[in-house]
Amino acid sequence: MKKLFFILAPLFCLNGQVQMDYYLNDMSQYNSSIPTPESVIGHKVGEFHVSHDKLSHYVQELSKSSKRVKLIERGKTYENRTSWLMIITSESNQSNLEEIRQQHLRLSDSKNIDIDTSSMPIVVYQGFSVHGDEPSGSNASLLLMYHLLASDSNETKELLDNTIILLDPSFNPDGLQRFSQWANMNKNQSLNPDPSDREYNQYWPRGRTNHYWFDLNRDMLPNQLPETNAKIETFTEWMPNILTDHHEMGTNSSFFFQPGVPERKNPLISDLNQALTKEIGTYHEDALNKIGSLYYSEESYDDFFFGKASTYPDANGSIGILFEQGSSRGHIQESDNGILTFPFTIKNQLTTAFSTLNAAKNMRVKLLNYMKDFHDNQVELSSKPNENIVFGKQKDKSTVFHLAKVLKSHKIKFNTLSQDVKLNGTTYSKNNSYIIPLNQPKRTLIRAMFDTQTTFNDSLFYDVSAWTFPLAFNVNYSMTNGLSKSSVEKIKSNEVDILENIVGSVDKKSEYAYIFEPHDYYAQAAVYELLKKGLRVKTATRTFAINGENFDFGTYMVSVQNQSLDSDEIYKLLVEVSSKTGINVKSQSTGITDGIDLGSNNFEIVKEPKIGLIVGEGVRSYDAGEIWHLLDTRFNIPITKLDVSDLSYIDLSRYTHIILPDYSEGYQYQSTGGSINKDQINEYIEDGGNLIAYRNSVKWVSSNLSKVDFHTNEITADDVTFSERQSFFGAQQTGGAIFNSIIDKSHPVNFGIESNTLPLFRNSNVYMTKSEQSFNNPIVYSSNPLMSGYISEENLSLLKKATPFKVIRSGKGKILLMTDNTNFRAFWFGTNRILLNMLFHSNIM
Ligand SMILES: [Zn+2]
Repeated sequence: MKKLFFILAPLFCLNGQVQMDYYLNDMSQYNSSIPTPESVIGHKVGEFHVSHDKLSHYVQELSKSSKRVKLIERGKTYENRTSWLMIITSESNQSNLEEIRQQHLRLSDSKNIDIDTSSMPIVVYQGFSVHGDEPSGSNASLLLMYHLLASDSNETKELLDNTIILLDPSFNPDGLQRFSQWANMNKNQSLNPDPSDREYNQYWPRGRTNHYWFDLNRDMLPNQLPETNAKIETFTEWMPNILTDHHEMGTNSSFFFQPGVPERKNPLISDLNQALTKEIGTYHEDALNKIGSLYYSEESYDDFFFGKASTYPDANGSIGILFEQGSSRGHIQESDNGILTFPFTIKNQLTTAFSTLNAAKNMRVKLLNYMKDFHDNQVELSSKPNENIVFGKQKDKSTVFHLAKVLKSHKIKFNTLSQDVKLNGTTYSKNNSYIIPLNQPKRTLIRAMFDTQTTFNDSLFYDVSAWTFPLAFNVNYSMTNGLSKSSVEKIKSNEVDILENIVGSVDKKSEYAYIFEPHDYYAQAAVYELLKKGLRVKTATRTFAINGENFDFGTYMVSVQNQSLDSDEIYKLLVEVSSKTGINVKSQSTGITDGIDLGSNNFEIVKEPKIGLIVGEGVRSYDAGEIWHLLDTRFNIPITKLDVSDLSYIDLSRYTHIILPDYSEGYQYQSTGGSINKDQINEYIEDGGNLIAYRNSVKWVSSNLSKVDFHTNEITADDVTFSERQSFFGAQQTGGAIFNSIIDKSHPVNFGIESNTLPLFRNSNVYMTKSEQSFNNPIVYSSNPLMSGYISEENLSLLKKATPFKVIRSGKGKILLMTDNTNFRAFWFGTNRILLNMLFHSNIM
């Protein structure tokens, strides 16, 4: 009978409608007082794509109807949508939920070694559609929630007695809303499976990402975005035993469940973890067999990058599981597996959501014990060497704060320093450093953030091959292995309970001038506020000293006389701005210094940037979104988003800077004819504009504006078979690795960087040749540049000869080229300064 449903499903669906019994087996024991999805959202599940607004409505109505659920609002997205969490369990468990949670958390606190797990409920976190245009998950969640609250079968009751279900119906509310609008607005009443229909071909930036075009399924470890903040909060508050993440993949694929490719497993993940993942997989196997659905496992995807929701749990004594369903991407589409209907994709997701719960019920004690044993192993009770990581910076407090905030959000414990300490030649000041003991339950998670890796079993990666946090934040870090246990105890002060925001100050009012160094992450947020108020700000192109205190390249100076504000107003403004941005401003009563004086021509003017950001077809939306997010949310600098297809109608002369994020003509997803008119951009630059071109845009510049010389990888296949060709090409991809560079601190592009070296994140294969003049190569890769991650030998040898940054003068303007990504995924704090310097100091480059 069930097989019949599967075969006939496409026929039913051609009319766009299936009944609930297509999805749910035995509906005889459903409580009629629980509202069905259709009674609230106004259509059958699968008939239209549910919008987040309607889903929110249903979640709220459901929670009013049943005592099995507790609804939690965990914050808002950038578009002000709610990140909901439904905690679903039996009525009796609901009545002592907090007690159950506290008891469950003891499993991950290794001091409690005697816990009886035999009668404890298991905790399962089920999340859906983190990619907005992979909607079958969220649509399936409507039925899952309904079933769990409405079913009065013994099976459901037994499940709820033994399970706490943390159900997040939409990991990406803004993306789900965006895609549902697209799919519904293009839906035909007579459903049309032709893949060329507009319904299946979204326009830029598509529905995958969140408001600022981030891939939310890369943010679990960095935890920089509000949607992830909600997820991590739930995860750390509950420490679930299983987390499932329901996605979609290409239309011609069937269904995938983890484990992924065994050879690509992160070395921090145990074989036992993968064996348990595989055992849970047998439940999906059974359930999918029963409905006649094709699937596969272990042949693609991987558990390598902990930024993904299905891998993060594996560093926490939990099991993360990725599901990927072939996407109908609209309501019905032709595929290699026949006509693929939206209801069928929903049914597969629902089926594996149920098989997950079934596995959890049957493997409950095993998984609870696994979590306990995992955390027991994190802490060494023996007298082994006392391992700790110390990290910090000399001056930039905001960046250290942001890294500490990430640790705090994952409930990693760390302490302040009681005194300054020197480790491996680096001095850590007690005012701006922390010490993390590795001997704590989060040991593996800490290592997932701080370890580097340069050798690998496999040269293929589903995502980046490196993300080492202290390198991304460009903070100093050292192990304390060289110290005795007692010296470590001496430098370790209190554990950090509450992390205080960084507040800056002005030392006193001046009638002459104020100066502040450029090192703090937010220095240019302060500068921008001052420029916006019409103040004249200058920057030092030489170092100098005052009363023995040194001031670095790029130090900012605001003189008091001849400004648009009087001295009282300037003081008031600086007090306000410094408090907000964390910078410390020093007042000066004389223009004389040891070195350049405050009236010197070596103080150069800083101009307020007016920024245009090119977006649209051909531009990689992730890169554009990273820049938009950085300037808009962290620096409060408005940017104008200029769409490629509108560009020819726009007067570019009102922008001092135009940023071209990673751009290629003939981009793989390009579906409209928009392309950039090179004459227009050339004219803009000749007239004095600044073009900032990132990554592949450098190649576009070379072909269209000004020739750039490149080193290229000429490797040809030798002894590579036809079936190996993908691995051969894949091995030459630089999917994301970290390289060390040596910087010329006197060049304005490097102003404010404390260190003499700078770790760079590179996810491209564009290798510009160096300039003949050394002073035109302010950033060069070090002789042994690979710090962490994978790069092929061939590419590494090109990289060593290349430069990531170049300035080309053209007419009255400039082209600034950067092949590496300085703004990666909102957590590469260490190189954001490079973009800010291009915007604030291009006039002196
Ligand atoms: Zn996905």
